[in-house]
Amino acid sequence: MKTIIGVVVPIMTTERTMVCPKCGIQNECHSDPTGSMHTPSDGAFGVCISCGVIGVYTNNATRQRLATDEEIDALPDDFRKMVMLLSERIEQENKGKS
Ligand SMILES: [Zn+2]
Repeated sequence: MKTIIGVVVPIMTTERTMVCPKCGIQNECHSDPTGSMHTPSDGAFGVCISCGVIGVYTNNATRQRLATDEEIDALPDDFRKMVMLLSERIEQENKGKS
C-alpha cells in the first residue's frame, strides 16, 4: 500500500508504460484498487497520477481510454470513493501548481 496525496491505494509496478488518454504522460506505476496486485487487464480502472483523469485499460491492457460516467457510477462504493477522491486530489494539486 502507498499513500498518494492522503489517499491509501494499493500500488503495483509493471514494466508496462501506459500513456494517459488525457494529458499524454507516460505512467510506469499502476495501482490495483482490488489489491490483488496483478498486471492491469482490460476493463481495469486507473487514475493518472499527473492529471487525475480516470481511465480504463483496453486492447490487452496496452492502452487506456477515458472512463465514462456510467462506468464510474457502476463501480462498487468503496472503490468508486477511493478513485474519485484520488482523482479530485490530483486535480486540486495541479490547480495549485499553475
Ligand atoms: Zn494524465
